[in-house]
Amino acid sequence: MNPFTYARPTGIDEAVSLFTPDSRYIAGGTNLLDLMKENVTHPEQLIDITRLPLKDIEETTDGGLRIGALVSNSDLAWDARIEQHYPLLSKAILAGASPQLRNMATTGGNLLQRTRCYYFYDADTPCNKREPGSGCPARDGLNRIHAILGHSEQCIAVHPSDMCVGLAALDATVIVKGRDGERRIAFADFHRLPGNEPERDNTLADGELVTAVELPAENFSTHCAYLKIRDRQSYAFALVSVAAALQLDGGVIRNVRVALGGVAHKPWRNPEAEALLVGRPADKAAFGELADALLAGAIGFNDNQFKIELARRAIVRALSDAVEGAV
Ligand code: SF4
Repeated sequence: MNPFTYARPTGIDEAVSLFTPDSRYIAGGTNLLDLMKENVTHPEQLIDITRLPLKDIEETTDGGLRIGALVSNSDLAWDARIEQHYPLLSKAILAGASPQLRNMATTGGNLLQRTRCYYFYDADTPCNKREPGSGCPARDGLNRIHAILGHSEQCIAVHPSDMCVGLAALDATVIVKGRDGERRIAFADFHRLPGNEPERDNTLADGELVTAVELPAENFSTHCAYLKIRDRQSYAFALVSVAAALQLDGGVIRNVRVALGGVAHKPWRNPEAEALLVGRPADKAAFGELADALLAGAIGFNDNQFKIELARRAIVRALSDAVEGAV
């Protein structure tokens, strides 16, 4: 273990002011402590944010909800307002991790968890995400869990979160605070594709702290489904996951959202393809067309070619389930 200092501020501004380039904010620690123990990251300072006033879920003036960054995944999934009005989010959260981890993991931390690529966690192997410029052994190595969309020469890792797939489908907004003040980031712009900088998972500036996530009033509570396909039924990351949401009018699609997990460096959406389904009957032909559009350009590797067809079938099934209700 590398030595580090520890600070425990009680105010948001104080926490932000303490940040230095070699600092990390810590809350539940369910990913960061693993990264430190595996020598993947070695901060010189940990800023414990668990005393900050970010533990509430509040209604917003436009009919949505503002979720404090320190609300645990369990408290969020089982909150009556989330269960009733945002069942897609509740189901996505409960599909992830284990009860013990969900009790510790926070809303902000869930957004910031890092990929589970095997090589990223093995400090004895090269990895462009951990050590820029060192190479990507996953491309020709073990890549069953890796990306089929949006990958680059430098990195083919996927984002591991289930909750974020639900938030992407709901068009959430991330609220962050830095030394220059507060900023709102559309969820689609929060995570990034690897490109030439795979070491950067998101668009946060140095020292910016996630303070909240806002859900819009539009909640798709009547027709939604979260489908997660994995190697075992619990406590496993998604090979493919689908957050599907529909608004229907007599069997005709009025609005549709599909976000994919387990297939890219960020939750995968294609709003232009979704828009083409408006006014169409909610049937498997339409869902199949959307699946094809979402997967256009998908390229697999040695071990994960199967994900392309798996994702196609999962999209059609999740949308079909959503027609039936909140599944
Ligand atoms: Fe590293 Fe990304 Fe390659 Fe995995 S896929 S070894 S995280 S560069």
